[in-house]
Amino acid sequence: MLIKRLKLSGFKSFVEPAELRIEPGLTGVVGPNGCGKSNLLEAIRWVMGENSPKSMRSGGMEDVIFAGTETRPQRDFAEVVLHAEDDFGEELEVMRRIERGAGSAYRVNGSDVRAKDVSLTFADAATGAHSPALVSQGKIAQVIAAKPAERRQMLEEAAGIAGLHVRRRDAESK
Ligand code: ATP
Ligand code: MG
Repeated sequence: MLIKRLKLSGFKSFVEPAELRIEPGLTGVVGPNGCGKSNLLEAIRWVMGENSPKSMRSGGMEDVIFAGTETRPQRDFAEVVLHAEDDFGEELEVMRRIERGAGSAYRVNGSDVRAKDVSLTFADAATGAHSPALVSQGKIAQVIAAKPAERRQMLEEAAGIAGLHVRRRDAESK
């Protein structure tokens, strides 16, 4: 799967609508401290279904919504749209939106879907929120220091089989 475009609005420091084109190959994000590099990577993880506020460096999920500054009021919602192309050349538009007091909603190509559908789509394509395709600050050290079970999880994400565990747990609980 290829990530082609990312649109953010009201997400963390990206208060005004912003759009980024992501070219094929390796993409690096550079800039001064505090300019929003980590926030960008978090936006990609978030739209892919990340549900741990901790991995968004947030206390609660609503903390991803622009919190306001001395000169700008806070926003009521955050929205991230990711355009991708799957391995069959099909275009995929995934949208996640969170509103204060209303939780998250997801759409894929314009239709409402569940969080799980989105997570599984990316996990199956080996580009999920925990995929090694997204290398954030401290990640390399984390790989080196990881316990064998954690390292196995990373390899499974890379191999695109992480979604199978989710489906097995589902089947076993039925
Ligand atoms: P570094 O080089 O230090 O790693 P960075 O480029 O990764 O910096 P980020 O951590 O992505 O920077 O961005 C930090 C900025 O985002 C801070 O100024 C912080 O106040 C702002 N920020 C984070 N969450 C929110 C929010 N909910 N509302 C407004 N601003 C936010
Ligand atoms: Mg950072």
